[in-house]
Amino acid sequence: MLCGTPEDMKSGAVEAARTILTGLHEVMASRSNAQAKLNTVVEVIGESLNSEVCSVYLLREGMLELFATRGLAQEAVHVTRMAIGEGLVGMIADQIETLNLAEAASHPDFSYRPETGEDKYHSFAGVPIVRRERAVGVLCVQHVEPRRYEEIEIEALQTVAMVLSELIVNADLIDEEGTGAISAQTGPEQLRGLTLVKGLASGVAVYHQPRVTIEQIVAEDTEAERQRVIMAFDKMREQIDRMTSQAEFGLGGEHEEVLATYRMFAYDEGWTRRINEAIDSGLTAEAAIERVQQRTRMRMRQIDDPLLADRMHDLEDLANRLLRIVSGQIGTAASMGLRNDAILIARNLGPAELLEYDRRRLKGVILEEGSLTSHVVIVARAMGIPVLGRVRGLRGVVREGDPLLLDADQGSVAVRPSTGVIEAFETRFAKSRERQAVYAGLRDVLPTTRDGTRIQVMINAGLRDDITNLCMTGADGIGLFRTEFQFLVSATLPQRERQTRLYRDVMEGAGDKPVVFRTVDIGGDKTLPYLRHDDGEGEENPAMGWRALRVALERDGLLKVQARALLEAAAGRTLNVMFPMVAEPWEFDAAKEVFEGQLAYLRKRKKVLPDVIRYGVMLEVPALVEQLDLLAPKISFLSIGTNDLTQFLFAADRSNAKLAERYDWLSPAILRFLRRVVRELDGHNVDIGVCGEMGGRRLEALALLGLGIRRLSITPASVGPIKELLGHIDLGPITAAMEGWLAAPPPNLREVMTAWASERGIPVD
Ligand code: PEP
Ligand code: MG
Repeated sequence: MLCGTPEDMKSGAVEAARTILTGLHEVMASRSNAQAKLNTVVEVIGESLNSEVCSVYLLREGMLELFATRGLAQEAVHVTRMAIGEGLVGMIADQIETLNLAEAASHPDFSYRPETGEDKYHSFAGVPIVRRERAVGVLCVQHVEPRRYEEIEIEALQTVAMVLSELIVNADLIDEEGTGAISAQTGPEQLRGLTLVKGLASGVAVYHQPRVTIEQIVAEDTEAERQRVIMAFDKMREQIDRMTSQAEFGLGGEHEEVLATYRMFAYDEGWTRRINEAIDSGLTAEAAIERVQQRTRMRMRQIDDPLLADRMHDLEDLANRLLRIVSGQIGTAASMGLRNDAILIARNLGPAELLEYDRRRLKGVILEEGSLTSHVVIVARAMGIPVLGRVRGLRGVVREGDPLLLDADQGSVAVRPSTGVIEAFETRFAKSRERQAVYAGLRDVLPTTRDGTRIQVMINAGLRDDITNLCMTGADGIGLFRTEFQFLVSATLPQRERQTRLYRDVMEGAGDKPVVFRTVDIGGDKTLPYLRHDDGEGEENPAMGWRALRVALERDGLLKVQARALLEAAAGRTLNVMFPMVAEPWEFDAAKEVFEGQLAYLRKRKKVLPDVIRYGVMLEVPALVEQLDLLAPKISFLSIGTNDLTQFLFAADRSNAKLAERYDWLSPAILRFLRRVVRELDGHNVDIGVCGEMGGRRLEALALLGLGIRRLSITPASVGPIKELLGHIDLGPITAAMEGWLAAPPPNLREVMTAWASERGIPVD
């Protein structure tokens, strides 16, 4: 093997790896059969590393089989077989770990195989041959002399193992049976997460940011590869710097933290150096990045620290980004189009990114992050797409194209499911469809409590297509039309005519039913590339920053255009317009004034005007409650946006995955606050409702009814379940119970309410 000074050895190892790669390249290009190729491979490796034994074990029928060897008895080839976990070879494959032993026989897992004639060899080093994070074989070297191998020798072996992993698949080094064995190794798995949007779906895994396929591993021109990597690093750093300055990255994620880590990795000298060393050993830029990544993965696997695991995801993201840049395989899966029923996999997504997908093919979404009220989740809910969030280890387990069964009702996903799991899923799916049919059957039932109070059940919407949801659910109208969705799906600021057309279409589609248009709520996790902060600075805290009405009032051109569009679209009808994020009454006055100004303008031009204009506000900022008495006489309606309201009440970012499960909507703080709002408005002629996600959940809706709320605007999929719920409720008892619970809150109101409902046969799950 290699010897001399550390520097000599380092360059020796690089040289050895290089010779091997060149040798392997030639072997693979030859026309010999798979076995002959493998025989030559072990010779080339053994010779270049000056090693007495070099053997390759490959996975076949679930066993590691000696496929080729230089140095061990040839009779053992295809005879010696080890189970995963058995002997040193089996252990390497099982743990996906490198072993480096001066005295192999003294290792507790050593399993002596007399047919190989290996007893005279003392030292042993083996590395797993990994494909898509699974061991598909083992490459090992042995020596008579008892010695530990140098780190750089191991490195050379690992580089070679990586090349072998590609060759195994690309050059038919294993037969069909063997391929079967590889997939047997990547068997069924079950992952758990947090239900963000309920529902069931089956489809193949599609990575939002697809993994790059490496087409060429061995470099033809090392200098050229080096240049490619330098350029890719420059470009990536530029991107990261831009993201940092614009704060547009990580929609709905822990932006700051992620970005800081990204920058740290992007500028990490060690990372660049290791990639360059891998290129020196003869790899292409792509293969070198992947090689270094593989090594990091192996190291990280040995460290059991969730924080580090998180950082590993960041590095994976970044390495993938670098790979995409260097290989030119840019663009998300949406830009390539979905070919089958698909379940999208991502760390996190922005609402606009989700909307780029073909709605007919996109069946589900699985996120590593995500929270109930992040906008991507709201959009998915509106699209009727189940979403599972906070799935740990997702990207380590799921591979592109894997069949998935997503059961967001139970918070789980089956990866590469077995026949039994598929059958059980089908049964559940059929049941779920039956339930949907029951809900669909409630379409024409008026939402009324059992004791006869009519409740307004409306839907939240934002797209032209959503109008079909109104017809399908039989809801009382659209209680929240998020006008910013049109802005989110558009590459440029939508012109007035386009806005007018959309609003008119929606009103026409709704017929006699009311539609409440909310003026644009841009900002927070709804960023628009074409509408940025004037000073170009990113915001530290966008949810509490320059968003919603604040943007609209500052850029009153934006609000003016929207006001004109809404007023024109509502000609001869009732226009319900609602302002988001009002914190003080004067903000409402200012927004209304913009509308009145446009109304005067249209009147002067003798245009047909709306018959009635009803102005309302969203209650999302707690401060507004302190001035409700001043605001109430000015408004026709008030809609409580519990998504934002709760994030501000608890000072808990609604899109921060870490806080997703921390606070409960059924907390006394929220419920008492809502009760106060209802009481403050008592006696004023203000129509009060709730349009946050809270109202679409049955137990929460029960609580809201107990507080006196009589209008809910909810996600379309919840209309059926809520109508069903209403048919089981008498308002008297729930109102009294709520009074009691809020006077002396139990430690866990959710549990208490669930029990209360179940005793009375009220369906709340
Ligand atoms: C809310 O904040 O509750 C709400 C309905 O508005 P959005 O989710 O669009 O911010
Ligand atoms: Mg809001």
